[in-house]
Amino acid sequence: PGIFALANHHFSVATESSWKHRTSLRVPNLIGGSFVDSQSSEFVDVINPATQEVVSQIPLTTGKEFKSAVSAAKEAFPSWKNTPITTRQRVMLKFQELIRKNMDKLAFNVTMEQGKTLKDAQGDVFRGLEVVEHACGMATLQMGEYVSNVSNGIDTYSLREPLGVCAGICPFNFPAMIPLWMFPVAATCGNTFILKPSEKDPGASMMLAELAMEAGLPDGVLNIVHGTHDVVNAICDDDDIRAISFVGSNTAGMHIYSRASAKGKRVQSNMGAKNHVVVMPDANIDSTINALVAAGFGAAGQRCMALSTVVFVGDSKPWEEKLLERAKTLKVSAGTEPDADLGPVISKQAKERVCRLVQSGVDSGAKLLLDGRDIVVPGYEKGNFIGPTILSGVTPDMECYKEEIFGPVLLCMQANSLDEAINIVNQNKYGNGAAIFTTSGAAARKFQTEIESGQFLVCIICHPISAVAYTIKLLFLFPDKIVASCFCFLYKIGINVPIPVPLPFFSFTGSKASFAGDLNFYGKAGVQFYTQIKTVTQQWKDLSGGSGVSLAMPTSQ
Ligand code: NAD
Repeated sequence: PGIFALANHHFSVATESSWKHRTSLRVPNLIGGSFVDSQSSEFVDVINPATQEVVSQIPLTTGKEFKSAVSAAKEAFPSWKNTPITTRQRVMLKFQELIRKNMDKLAFNVTMEQGKTLKDAQGDVFRGLEVVEHACGMATLQMGEYVSNVSNGIDTYSLREPLGVCAGICPFNFPAMIPLWMFPVAATCGNTFILKPSEKDPGASMMLAELAMEAGLPDGVLNIVHGTHDVVNAICDDDDIRAISFVGSNTAGMHIYSRASAKGKRVQSNMGAKNHVVVMPDANIDSTINALVAAGFGAAGQRCMALSTVVFVGDSKPWEEKLLERAKTLKVSAGTEPDADLGPVISKQAKERVCRLVQSGVDSGAKLLLDGRDIVVPGYEKGNFIGPTILSGVTPDMECYKEEIFGPVLLCMQANSLDEAINIVNQNKYGNGAAIFTTSGAAARKFQTEIESGQFLVCIICHPISAVAYTIKLLFLFPDKIVASCFCFLYKIGINVPIPVPLPFFSFTGSKASFAGDLNFYGKAGVQFYTQIKTVTQQWKDLSGGSGVSLAMPTSQ
């Protein structure tokens, strides 16, 4: 029913009030609690990457429609902010129950629009669901602090208050999880929200919004606008939007970070990655190879935490042979096929880009151990499939190593020692995740301690405006190194764990070119991002008699 028609890739069977009689492929915006058809004359096709069928179409939302979404969010803010936190938590409690109930429909929609396998799509929804569960404890997470008697009869306490209207801009690769990193935390803190889903797979956001409203989220607390660059720029420029959460590529992320922070907004920007795994000679061969294959090729390599580079310490040959043997057994097919291990990449352009980067590796001397570029999948001949691909003998100067590939391609490198391997990881411009496979506690500890920014770690824990000013200064001082700069927080490290995505009580940390901002997604930092501190100093004592006028700076008495 309702928007779940999306799961069947058309809107014609809508039965709930918001979706009744809908026959169009066009995805509406969500403004002030109503699903509203855009008056735009421009639409973008949402394409099933396994078949090239048009699943739906998103509008390029007009400026007027965008403004009305912001007004709805602004109007909803005062009463939502004043709604008891226990009530806001209860909405999340109901929301998580509805997500569980509709897990299969959500996952099916993710597979139809994004291409990943159904099992992987369930993981996408589940990892987002965990953030909703975490938001159910917001009263504790949002607690302030209190110091009594800071001076005679005076107490000071701090409150974490919501910011107002916040916005989220999403990438295509986790259509359910990433919107769920954003609006549940923001809304439970008392903010209202404008969500801009990826234009490539908006369906899960729409379904989640309908469930959130069914769970009791009042009209205007969550609004959805579709589009691409123009609506993103409108979000960056709008004076009523106080904070922006972004996840996606570096080009978009740095543009949004600088444009929005120049307007005085808070921004958290999670960007690209080149995640390395260091394999020590003492690692357990079977479990390590399984982990490399799963984390390198799962989701067709389109996870921000996908392993894209393996650094073998010592002789890499026996490892590469095993890797090749295991990778060859993977089944590439549409995500709806029950035996598929990996599905297609998101678009024809993405496939062309991956193939070009693989070829650049070959041209600069890497050895193509496994080539998945020409794969044809029976029954899905038009799909954007790339089979598992392995390049060995890769060196740091190669374009395939320097660029994020974001496809099912594993690059193999070799190092003579752990020190050399750590140096390779630290020299890379990205700082998202890194893992080590070893049975040596000493090696694991050394890795955990020494993995860091390597080139040029800029730690700034301050207001984004100052961060931008500081960056501009650094640009003048170190023009050649600024690409590798970051605004604090470190890698996610895995020790015998290939994809160390932290659960929501921690934060999704990142550094160097993988993150800009000073407060990460979810966990304590996520709550801090969506709240501001108000500090109250109060005096309650018998003031009869007075103590006269003193113009000196007050000091503790
Ligand atoms: P993308 O940057 O192309 O798109 C992300 C969003 O930004 C979309 O909503 C899009 O409409 C908008 N956008 C794109 N270009 C823009 C521009 N020039 N100006 C304004 N808005 C623009 O990213 P994608 O291809 O959807 O996602 C893949 C990328 O996301 C990869 O680089 C991946 O590493 C990264 N990613 C990072 C994380 C993380 O947590 N670090 C998580 C998931 C994905």
